[in-house]
Amino acid sequence: MILNPIPWPDGAKCAVAFTMDMDADSILHLAHPDRAPRMVSALSMLKYSPKIAVPRILATYRKFGLKQTFFLPAWCMEQYPETVEAILRDGHEIGYHGYIHEHQNELSRDEEHYWLQRSLDVFTSMTGTRPEGARSPLYNFSEHTADLLIEEGFKFDASLMGDDIPYILETGRGRLIELPSSWALDDWPQFMHSIEFNYLMPIRSPEEAWKTFWAEFEAAWEHGGLWIAVWHPKVSGRLSRWSYTERMIEQMLKIGSVWIAPLGEIAAHVQKCVDLGQCTPRIDKLPYYAGRVSPIRPRMPLPKAAE
Ligand SMILES: [Zn+2]
Repeated sequence: MILNPIPWPDGAKCAVAFTMDMDADSILHLAHPDRAPRMVSALSMLKYSPKIAVPRILATYRKFGLKQTFFLPAWCMEQYPETVEAILRDGHEIGYHGYIHEHQNELSRDEEHYWLQRSLDVFTSMTGTRPEGARSPLYNFSEHTADLLIEEGFKFDASLMGDDIPYILETGRGRLIELPSSWALDDWPQFMHSIEFNYLMPIRSPEEAWKTFWAEFEAAWEHGGLWIAVWHPKVSGRLSRWSYTERMIEQMLKIGSVWIAPLGEIAAHVQKCVDLGQCTPRIDKLPYYAGRVSPIRPRMPLPKAAE
C-alpha cells in the first residue's frame, strides 16, 4: 500500500517513536494569561508532567533501553531545568516546541521568527546545542514555519500529517525532512477532559484507547510505515495509561522487527537513504498556496435569486 517504502535499519518492518510533548503549564498561561495563576487545580494537573510523569517515563525508557524524543516549549525548559537535565542525562533528544506554546499560524513571520530565535537562545544556554527537530504547538505550523526552520538549520519537523512515511518539505530556501503522525496517534482525543481548554472528550479506558493506537501500529508493521505517538506526559503518563504503555512496548519488542528510535535518528536515516539513492520520499512544495484561494468571503450575503 506504500508506493515508495523506506528501507528501515536491519530489515525492520516499521519505525516507531513515542514522542512526548511536555507542555506543562505553558498552555494555561497562553489560554488564560490573566487568570492562570489563580487556576490552581488546572495548574496541578499540568504540573503533573514534570513532577510525576516525566520521571516515570524516563524510568520505563531505562528499563527497556530506549532513547526517545521530548518536545518542550523553551519557557518550560526555563521553568523546569531539572527536567531538562534528567532527559538529557539519559541520552534523550529535546526538540523545539515554541516558546510558550504560541500558535505559529496566528503570528506574523517576524513574530514567529522572534520566538524561534529566543527559544534557540534558551536551548543553547541550557543544553549547549541547538535542536535538530521541531513540532509546532498544537500542529499550528504556519506558511512560514518550514522556511524559518530551514533558515535556522533544523533537520526535521514532526508537525504534519501528509503521509504514512517520512517525506520532504521543499521551500524556496531548501528542504526539511517531515516525520508525520496523525490525530489517531495523539492522546488528547482519547483522554483529555479539561474545561479550562474547552476540550471535553469522554475519557476512554486505556484498553479502548490503546486499540486505536495498536491498530495504527499493526498497519505500520504490515506495510513498512512509521508510527509516531504524539503523547503528553500529563495525559499518557498517568498511572493506568502508562502501565498499558509498558505492556505495549513489551508487545512490540516481542513481535520484533520494530525499530524504536528518537526522531533525530529516524530523520538521519532517511537523509542517508536519500543521499545513497535507496529511497525516494515524496516532496511537498510549500507554501501550498500563493495567497487567498476562495473568492467567497465568510458570511458574504448570497445574491438574491432572479425573479
Ligand atoms: Zn504541545
